[in-house]
Amino acid sequence: MLDIQKIRADFPILTQKVNGKQLVYFDNGATSQKPKVVIDAITKYYEEINANIHRGVHTLSQLATDAYEVSRGKIQQHINAKFPYEVIFTSGTTHGINAIANGFASILKEGDEVLVSALEHHSNIVPWQMLCEKTGAKLVVIPMNDEGELIISEFDKLLSDKTKVVTVNHISNALGTLNPIKYIIDKAHEFGAAVLIDGAQAVPHLKPDVQELDCDFYVFSGHKICGPTGVGILYGKEEWLRKLPPYQGGGEMIATVSFEKTTYADLPHKFEAGTPNIAGGIVLGTAIDYLNEIGFENIQAYEHELLEYGTKRLLEIDGLKIFGTAKEKTSVISFNIEGVHPYDIGTIIDKLGIAVRTGHHCAQPIMDFYQIPGTIRASFAFYNTKEEIDIFVEAVKKAKMMLS
Ligand SMILES: *Cc1c(COP(=O)(O)O)cnc(C)c1O
Repeated sequence: MLDIQKIRADFPILTQKVNGKQLVYFDNGATSQKPKVVIDAITKYYEEINANIHRGVHTLSQLATDAYEVSRGKIQQHINAKFPYEVIFTSGTTHGINAIANGFASILKEGDEVLVSALEHHSNIVPWQMLCEKTGAKLVVIPMNDEGELIISEFDKLLSDKTKVVTVNHISNALGTLNPIKYIIDKAHEFGAAVLIDGAQAVPHLKPDVQELDCDFYVFSGHKICGPTGVGILYGKEEWLRKLPPYQGGGEMIATVSFEKTTYADLPHKFEAGTPNIAGGIVLGTAIDYLNEIGFENIQAYEHELLEYGTKRLLEIDGLKIFGTAKEKTSVISFNIEGVHPYDIGTIIDKLGIAVRTGHHCAQPIMDFYQIPGTIRASFAFYNTKEEIDIFVEAVKKAKMMLS
């Protein structure tokens, strides 16, 4: 079992007071808090080895390059990629998806289809829409049901020889639904389609095995797994990364450049133009080590307890409705209270030191499906507690009373 008080002591921000109250941070779906080891590793990088990577012969440049590549290796191991060069550093999930969607511009033709799910974050909708506009391909949506689950029988029917790309999230940020991605990947492959998994909300809760999943691409952000902002990972199968053209041109991604012709660098550098977030890349490895020390099985079991407890406590409130009641879900509770605007609840409980997200959660199509403007979303991490849930539930009750 986890020693939650010991874990909480690793996160300096959790002792903060906000608006004069002890902070209760339930906005982990938007970004996670950072443990001291990660914060210290950033300082240590800048104090001791800061230099540009892959370029210099000097000692610091080599130390920085080594640390960066060690981190790439850690991430490769963590997600069980076959080769380190299948792990591309990006600035985050959004960057990773755009890189792949752009790559497919040279492959898709008019009449081809891209399947996206109804549960996607805008990051995993808009780049594909742009791709479809460019190529004349068609964006086709895998529908969802009232529980917030994808309707898999409909997905089966949508697949055809026209399907070139299928893109779904592993876990929905707005509702917490855990999607049956293994089934989706295997089924899409029967039709020769490439599959991208948006793992941004999954990696904080579980350890994906990209070889077992057999996905073609898996993307995530560092900042949702205790790492810094501005760094993320694009995993791609070697054959796809070789086939797709690079997303950006610049330094680092070339083999030779002349005004007549440029040849591209080998993987992974082909997709890593320009000076990257070096400290971020290195420290992402530190964050992953930290999480693995706690253990994803422990994290999952504990977060599940928080989800069950939070769900039970919130449902005590009259007129409260939870959106996203999938059988398989993670520690996200999206809800509304009859007759009260989510924004108003968010504002009042902020005065009580509680951080939650209100609004459409970058997933407007889901809100349209439910015909609501937005929800209040509480998303729990392994450093949250049942006592915090109690404080939160009391605050929501108080806000409801003030507003109705
Ligand atoms: C957060 C999130 C994104 C976007 O991540 P960025 O870090 O903003 O690039 C995409 N998809 C899902 C499911 C997310 O939760």
